Amino acid sequence: MNSGDPRSPIESNEGQTDKNEIFSKERLEEDLNIQTIRPKLLDEYVGQTKIKENLRVFLEATKNRNESLDHCLFYGPPGLGKTTLASIIANELGVNIKATSGPVIEKTGDLAAVLTNLSEGDVLFIDEIHRLHSSVEEILYPAMEDFQLDIIIGQGPAARTIKIDLEKFTLIGATTRMGLLTSPLRDRFGMIFRLEFYHDDELKEIIKRAAGIMDIDVAEEAADEIARRCRGTPRVAHRLLRRIRDFADVYNKGIIEKKIAKHGLGRLEIDVMGLDTSDRRYLESIIEKYEGGPVGVDTLAATLSEEKDTIEDVIEPFLIYCGFIKKTPRGRVAAIKAYEHLNIKRRNKQVTVDDLLNDQENNNDEQE
Ligand code: ADP
Repeated sequence: MNSGDPRSPIESNEGQTDKNEIFSKERLEEDLNIQTIRPKLLDEYVGQTKIKENLRVFLEATKNRNESLDHCLFYGPPGLGKTTLASIIANELGVNIKATSGPVIEKTGDLAAVLTNLSEGDVLFIDEIHRLHSSVEEILYPAMEDFQLDIIIGQGPAARTIKIDLEKFTLIGATTRMGLLTSPLRDRFGMIFRLEFYHDDELKEIIKRAAGIMDIDVAEEAADEIARRCRGTPRVAHRLLRRIRDFADVYNKGIIEKKIAKHGLGRLEIDVMGLDTSDRRYLESIIEKYEGGPVGVDTLAATLSEEKDTIEDVIEPFLIYCGFIKKTPRGRVAAIKAYEHLNIKRRNKQVTVDDLLNDQENNNDEQE
């Protein structure tokens, strides 16, 4: 263990010079930018109260028993604070964190190198864990369960397995797609937490905290306005704050007042509900091109020339949360709220037997 290490876990990663380490470059670049505003302790982490309170208990119990923390998995849309929680856990435990991501680990040897370099109690953070190659994932099972690495040497009849003991580490996984995680992997996590979209008051607190750290002058009403329009997501809140600061610097001596916030958000084409042009194009497409749906996600991806993953991971979760669309077995359907928000009149659609059956199925689903 590395108790009392004053460096933040993310800093300790940046300090790494070992070229064999497999870190996601993108993530580290982002960490460099936001390092100062990323909360380092549970007390600085706003919202997600239930997760925080439970984690507090598990961390204290682990520390009292002088054990390593059980493996944990965080899931939820991007930007809600999964990476942040992983680094907070390492910080609260006073251990090192090594961060990598599923698609970056291409070969079993890559993961073996990472695992054998961990010290007792260390946290290994794997972002996008649902994108691990299946051969790599299989190496993780004995590593998570028995802290052992099974390595196969040679090929064919001469192949033999050697076992290497690993230090007791904590794996923290993060995923935007719980449904894509295989059940053997999911079952090996001792704690599974689902992150929710944030409420406006929590986002306001996040904005004011970041503004304080970045020395930005934000009026209360302006913070309210940004909080209302950041898709319930701290990462978006931080991004909007930085962009509005640009408008304030150029037009308002750096002071973010409500009117400059409204002006900036308008220029960024973010509407009163926080929807941006991609969200609106998505909704308009379902309503105008597919008569409100149902329409499959592949068709929508092709129509919008967007990646299917972006639609499912980024666009849809917030629109579902707001009640703008519904996912049905036959595809996505626009809800009345979407028509109202976009000010589009609902055309009377010819009702087919398929629609009636679909409605019945949905009602049954809801009753279950
Ligand atoms: P994820 O891993 O879920 O994509 P991150 O943990 O990288 O999200 O968080 C994105 C940004 O939002 C970071 O800058 C982080 O500091 C900030 N953030 C996330 N959750 C919170 C929170 N609860 N309180 C304050 N800032 C947060």
